Amino acid sequence: MNSMTAAVERLSDIRKRITEAAREAGRDPQSVRLIAVSKTFDVPHIVPVIEAGQRLFGENRVQEAKAKWPDLKAQFPDLELHLVGALQSNKAKEAVQLFDAIHSIDRPKIARVVADEMDKQGRKLKLFIQVNTGEEPQKAGVMPGELEDLVRYCREELRIDLAGLMCIPPVDEEPAVHFAFLAKRAEELGLKELSMGMSADFETAIAFGADYVRVGSAIFGER
Ligand SMILES: *Cc1c(COP(=O)(O)O)cnc(C)c1O
Repeated sequence: MNSMTAAVERLSDIRKRITEAAREAGRDPQSVRLIAVSKTFDVPHIVPVIEAGQRLFGENRVQEAKAKWPDLKAQFPDLELHLVGALQSNKAKEAVQLFDAIHSIDRPKIARVVADEMDKQGRKLKLFIQVNTGEEPQKAGVMPGELEDLVRYCREELRIDLAGLMCIPPVDEEPAVHFAFLAKRAEELGLKELSMGMSADFETAIAFGADYVRVGSAIFGER
C-alpha cells in the first residue's frame, strides 16, 4: 500500500476515533471538527484526502501554504484552510488572502495587522488566540496572565469577533491539565470555541470540549 492510500485509511480511522471519543464524552460527534494538518506534505499527498471527503486543512507556514493551496481551493471551493503556526506581521496580508482561520493570534500587534487586513480585503476570518498554557519560553502564545488584556484589546480596540482559544500543551506534561485550563479560561472570557488536541492527545481534548482538533502525522504519516 502506498503512502497516499495509507493516509486515506488513517483518516477514516481518525474519524472513527473522534466519533467514539465524542460519544464517550456525551457530545455530538458532529460538534468536533477535524483539521487535517498537511504541513510538509505535497499536493499529491493531499488530493486523495480531499477526495475522501476531508474539507478542513491546516498549515503552519504562509509561504508553504501559498505554494500548495490556491489551485486546490479553486478546484474545491468548499475547502477551509486554517493557519495553525506562528504568523509574522509582514505575512499578514497573504495570510488573510489565503486562510479562512488563524489559530495563532498571540500579541496585540499581530491582532491589529490581521484586523486591518480583514478590513482592507473585506474578508472575515475565524480567529483564535493561542495561549502558552505551559508558560514555555520557546513557545508561541500569549502568557495566561496576559490573556485577558489581549482579549479585551481585540474586542474593544479592534472590534474583532474572536472565535476562541487554542493551545499546544508541553510535550512532557499531562495534556488534560492544559485542556481543562483552556476550557475554563474560554468560559470565563465568554469565548465559544476551543482549538486543542493533536495526533497524540485529540481524544483527551475532545473529552475536555475541543471543537477543533488539529491532526497531522496520525493522518499523513511521520514528517
Ligand atoms: C503540526 C501541528 C499540528 C499537528 O501535529 P501532529 O502531532 O502531527 O498531529 C497541530 N497543531 C499545530 C499548531 C501544529 O504545528
